[in-house]
Amino acid sequence: MSDAKFTPRVFSGIQPSGDLHLGNYLGALKRFADAQNQGILSIYCMVDLHAITVWQDPAALTRNTRELCAGFIASGIDPEKSILFNQSQVPEHAQLAWVFNCVARMGWMGRMTQWKDKSGKNAEAASLGLLAYPALMAADILVYHATHVPVGEDQKQHLELTRDIAAKFNHDYGVEFFPMTEPVIEGAATRVMNLQDGTKKMSKSDPSDKTRINLTDDADAIARKIKKAKTDPDPLPETAEGLENRPEARNLVNIWAALAETTVDDVVAQNAGKMFGYFKQDLADLAVEKLAPISGEMARLMQDPAEIDRILGRGAERAREIAAPILAQTYDIVGMVRS
Ligand code: ATP
Ligand code: MG
Repeated sequence: MSDAKFTPRVFSGIQPSGDLHLGNYLGALKRFADAQNQGILSIYCMVDLHAITVWQDPAALTRNTRELCAGFIASGIDPEKSILFNQSQVPEHAQLAWVFNCVARMGWMGRMTQWKDKSGKNAEAASLGLLAYPALMAADILVYHATHVPVGEDQKQHLELTRDIAAKFNHDYGVEFFPMTEPVIEGAATRVMNLQDGTKKMSKSDPSDKTRINLTDDADAIARKIKKAKTDPDPLPETAEGLENRPEARNLVNIWAALAETTVDDVVAQNAGKMFGYFKQDLADLAVEKLAPISGEMARLMQDPAEIDRILGRGAERAREIAAPILAQTYDIVGMVRS
């Protein structure tokens, strides 16, 4: 349970590091939209400062940030109900991150799976920002005293580290200032896998476009990618247990269940014994039916970038109203002089 003394508040972020994909939609965006009417203030951020931990072409970063904003809105997130903005317009994130850089320990950072995956074989050449990424992420969340963070499975470890940072800060300064944030990892598709390799997650930053379904893909591209997705030669099993040790098969069934808002058991029961060739055709139809309205709306919103920038600017103002006092209190706790 999260701390009773903190008002429930949701925060989550997505990097403008490339094209939004089906994993981002099912693991994050769709769930943000589903949760919107729970009466809890939700803050959603395009985390551009995180994106530059690996090289981003400046013009592409600008475009991706706007397109990500369009993706949020097209997925059903209402910028009036929720707060929608890009991270660099709220400097309190980076300011609190510095304090957390001084709270977090080097050893914690080096153990992060994302750091190991993204720094690869040449960690010496990775940016310092990539190593410090989780401290900035902790600041993103805690600068709002957020209590709940809906994310995909891949972010679970970073959420644990956020709690470690909050606990160490509270302990070191003898306060109960930062909440113990709860990760919210739910649904049938908390980890959508790479279509060509069922052992890796689907990612924006994967150089191969065949590995993912982008929210901007047209119907032909979606059908082609699903048809070419790797599978094993066996038909669909009779029960969900039959998907064990079949990561590619399991992935396609999970995607179906999440898109259709049903369970894996249900999908398996309805398709038992079917060959994947046929299953993939039906899955492609389902994916197109669910995604085409989103890509259409994204394209429409992208025709008016000034309106997107206005939405982001307004969101940033609202975000700062919450973040600025929390940063000021943090500085007071730490003992910084404020004149
Ligand atoms: P990058 O490759 O640049 O890290 P990404 O595809 O991992 O991009 P992020 O911006 O890092 O996307 O993550 C945004 C949100 O989407 C997070 O909540 C993350 O957990 C979720 N997410 C990312 N990939 C997947 C996936 N394959 N399945 C489910 N959720 C995912
Ligand atoms: Mg990622």
